[in-house]
Amino acid sequence: PGWESQVRSSAKVRSGGRFTVLVTGAAGFVGTHVSLALKRRGDGVIGLDNFNDYYDAKLKRDRRSQLDKSGIFVIEGDINDRELLEKLFDVVPFTHVMHLAAQAGVRYAMKNPSSYVHSNIAGFVNLLEVCKSANPQPAIVWASSSSVYGLNTKVPFSEKDRTDRPASLYAATKKAGEEIAHTYNHIYGLSITGLRFFTVYGPWGRPDMAYFFFTKHILSGKQIEIFEGPNHRSVARDFTYIDDIVKGCLGALDTAKKSTGSGGKKRGPAQLRVFNLGNTSPVPVTRLVSILEKLLKVKANKKLMPMPSNGDVMFTHANISSAQRELGYKPTTDLETGLKKFVHWYLKYYSGSKKRSSW
Ligand code: NAD
Repeated sequence: PGWESQVRSSAKVRSGGRFTVLVTGAAGFVGTHVSLALKRRGDGVIGLDNFNDYYDAKLKRDRRSQLDKSGIFVIEGDINDRELLEKLFDVVPFTHVMHLAAQAGVRYAMKNPSSYVHSNIAGFVNLLEVCKSANPQPAIVWASSSSVYGLNTKVPFSEKDRTDRPASLYAATKKAGEEIAHTYNHIYGLSITGLRFFTVYGPWGRPDMAYFFFTKHILSGKQIEIFEGPNHRSVARDFTYIDDIVKGCLGALDTAKKSTGSGGKKRGPAQLRVFNLGNTSPVPVTRLVSILEKLLKVKANKKLMPMPSNGDVMFTHANISSAQRELGYKPTTDLETGLKKFVHWYLKYYSGSKKRSSW
């Protein structure tokens, strides 16, 4: 369809690189950072994104410009488009798929539930169908979520804990993704690694996330609502800085085994893994706000509110010993340091159309 030559050039492995990776959701927050990190070390990278308008489409276009500058081609398309994916796999023998395209966000599921089914269930199945028939079969690393722990109250959350009580439709679709991964691994020998990200934040982040819109509202003087549980306990999150998450994603790709294929040609059990990628250090949202106040040098107009029933959970806290052991994952950025980098980017990016933010 006119993009073959760009795709081939973007997929080329350069010196130091080993893999040819399809990154879905490449114009998203995590997708952009992961794509750039792969390209920097020489891997061939092709992006795919449908550029939906769940949040500010300009931010996605600006992220894409950063990718363009690094020689990463992003195809505008949907993971549900079988024909497009098949054509793409005909042109490029992908060794790996980094699957980050999804309908993210917990609260939006109450407004638009079908978008979660479309992207997180139907789209994932469509992608796996194409991977299963591809030659070679790529190893798949994909983003699950800490939200699968749902109403689990045993902390820190470990991969063996129960995940059968999701608190939102978003969480339910991520949990469904984990079950779907099991079947494609079992029947077709696909190698699949699920990564349960814990509240990722940083430059080029997502405007629908609290740290991002708190920053916007603190600067404009708009009131921010901070949710509290019973006995005025603040909601807490295991905030994880984007660069740490990127290292975890690369660690998962580097340790992924080849898919083994199916139909009697099995060379051994294909890999099926799931890891927490968190920071092991939950921080109350009240503290998040006071760090932002300090960095922005502005007092927030705060309103403490009882936690509504909107799919959010009270707290998250990752046990990361499996990822440490098997992926070499080691988060190194504390919330204050990471937020400083976010605020720096934010002020630069939104400081007027003349000054363009560079990566
Ligand atoms: P994001 O919304 O910025 O990125 C997702 C990208 O996928 C977007 O650019 C979107 O346009 C694209 N997309 C959505 N549906 C698509 C479809 N059907 N076909 C093609 N492209 C599609 O989100 P993010 O924060 O970068 O998250 C990346 C992944 O990590 C997602 O799977 C998300 O569920 C998961 N995750 C994120 C966090 C976090 O804190 N950011 C936490 C847990 C899990």
